[in-house]
Amino acid sequence: MAAMLAPVPRALKAATSAFLDVLMPPACVACKAPVATPNGLCAGCFATLPALPHPLCTGCGVPLPVRAAVETLCPDCRAAPFPFASALAPFAYSGPAQTLVLRLKSGGDALAPLMARLMRQAGPLPAGATLVPVPLHRWRLLKRGYNQSALLAAALARHAGHPHAPELLVRTRPTPPSRGLGREARAANVADAFAVPPSQRGRVAGATLVLVDDVLTTGATAAACAQALLAAGAATVHVRTFARVVREAAQPWLHPTRQGST
Ligand SMILES: [Zn+2]
Ligand SMILES: [Zn+2]
Repeated sequence: MAAMLAPVPRALKAATSAFLDVLMPPACVACKAPVATPNGLCAGCFATLPALPHPLCTGCGVPLPVRAAVETLCPDCRAAPFPFASALAPFAYSGPAQTLVLRLKSGGDALAPLMARLMRQAGPLPAGATLVPVPLHRWRLLKRGYNQSALLAAALARHAGHPHAPELLVRTRPTPPSRGLGREARAANVADAFAVPPSQRGRVAGATLVLVDDVLTTGATAAACAQALLAAGAATVHVRTFARVVREAAQPWLHPTRQGST
């Protein structure tokens, strides 16, 4: 009986959704302007996505100062290279890009395919790479119900035709929120917080991995994850995020066009 009744709520949900679409046409996910299809951006928001100006540091993805520069690494990466081979994000963490990240985190899982498509446009994924999301601690996962990085990694893996393996890395202890912390405090906050489960070491050994997260801030979390994967024998670890925090004080050559937050 229950089995016979099970499809009904789904059909009802679809009918309700179609009905609501007539009453309330799809809205831009960032500014709520009417758009043709659900879970997309309007032309205005799309045009104001804060694309990072190239060339980017090949180590951490931060915009480099001079177009004609011979250097391919930023001063920070030259001074102390990250353990990951590269980090790349299409957007600065501001304007409509920031809105998308915040919506994804607050339950907008339908945004993951759009964000994954935009991430892929930033550059191809390394050949043969397996995608691994930055893990949440299981308590946080229980509380929130999902991991926004895993939603992005799964969508990116589907879009690009790469394997997605969230089981390769776990967070071994809950880490306090790092908002407001500086670079060194963030690094201490996540040190030794990640590990490869013993059962997964065979799959990590020799593998080319792409770590996926929503935002790269100082790179401390990505570095701690990469360290754990490399310690377990990964051949190389790259990082792909949807957005990247750009510290204007540290990159005075940048004059990003400030879009009003939408
Ligand atoms: Zn919009
Ligand atoms: Zn760099």
